[in-house]
Amino acid sequence: MSLFGSSGIRGLANIDVTPELALDVGRAVGAQYRDVVLGRDPRLSGRMLASAFSAGVLSVGGSVCDAGVVSTPTLARGAQRYACGVVITASHNPGEYNGIKLWNPDGMAFGGEQQEEVERALSTRDWTLASWDATGQFTERGDLPELHREAILRAVGSAELHVVVDCGNGATANVTPYVLREMGCRVTALNAQMDGHFPGRDPEPTEEHLAALRHAVVATEADLGVAHDGDGDRMVAVDEKGAFVGGDKLLALFAKRRARKGLVVPVDASMALDDLLGGLPVYRTRVGDVYVAQELKKRGADFGGEPSGTFIFPDQTLCPDGPYAAAYLATLVNERRLKEWLAEIPAYPIVRDALKFDAGRREALVAAVGRALGSLLAKEVTQLDGWRLAFEDGWALVRFSGTEPKIRVTAEARDVVRAKQIHEKVFAAVKGAVA
Ligand code: MG
Repeated sequence: MSLFGSSGIRGLANIDVTPELALDVGRAVGAQYRDVVLGRDPRLSGRMLASAFSAGVLSVGGSVCDAGVVSTPTLARGAQRYACGVVITASHNPGEYNGIKLWNPDGMAFGGEQQEEVERALSTRDWTLASWDATGQFTERGDLPELHREAILRAVGSAELHVVVDCGNGATANVTPYVLREMGCRVTALNAQMDGHFPGRDPEPTEEHLAALRHAVVATEADLGVAHDGDGDRMVAVDEKGAFVGGDKLLALFAKRRARKGLVVPVDASMALDDLLGGLPVYRTRVGDVYVAQELKKRGADFGGEPSGTFIFPDQTLCPDGPYAAAYLATLVNERRLKEWLAEIPAYPIVRDALKFDAGRREALVAAVGRALGSLLAKEVTQLDGWRLAFEDGWALVRFSGTEPKIRVTAEARDVVRAKQIHEKVFAAVKGAVA
């Protein structure tokens, strides 16, 4: 059984992620951790699942503090005084999805071992229902967004900008617009009414989903636009000309400013980061913010993130904090325009393609691809997540998709000719192996 993915439990609400499942996960977590703080994003199925989860914790004698509708970083920061934090969220997935993500008191998501423990407890139903007079205590608190706002304001300076904020009808609506205003910004808020139908836009903050934000920045002559996903662990931006600035560019900008001891990024992050940091250690992990957080803690590095737009500032919290990243970006743009900052960041060409494989032969094909890649004389081959082949002047990544019968091949180099060359060579080897 593998209930947990790299982002916790996730699936279609009431089909994959049911009240029965939430009840049992609540029992497993309650039995082990006893004292739980619980929040949810504004999805329509959120209250249903949160109620079931609460009932599970209470039924085994654990206590629940319900923090209501909050962003993921709001809850993860608030988990400090509890044994475990829980967010009912499906992050950037569309409205019909939901999920359960678990947090440690230091703001780090549950890693593999902790998830396995919960799975084991679920499969053996390893809990004891409490007697009627020993069922758990239920309390509520509504102050976590305020505490989150105050923590960000203590950490960042002021900014006198006009910022357009697109909360995507998600959980950051009670954090980011207020924080920016308190910092001294003039704020125009889009989709800042929480609504689990996500009427404003898709919760994933991709370029094509942010047309309204890009237009609003230009139309209102704003200095900056920022956008979050549904639960606020991601942040991306729009410059004053209305151009989308993705997580990959912001990752490089933040790394340049904040990484002093070391940087942690997933295997698919650009080699521009290594060049930009001129010799500072760059540690690579499997794709998933929890792996970045674990490596940050292990290495004592001071910044990490993913090209998808999750940024972890360990001096704040080990949870990716979209509202903090937005506030910090505003202080940078207060010094210089975003475009000027980005002019210092090298952008290298990345070539991506995928090929289909016969899912029934997966195991044999994985072995064949591994052998074929081994013969390519790469400088180094690492297998943290698929195969990452490092060459003198570029790299390639080969991954079997977890969700579709596709093998994705990505290559990057400092110029487009070389990136294409590496991609062709690796793609041909993979194709030969699965033929
Ligand atoms: Mg998210």
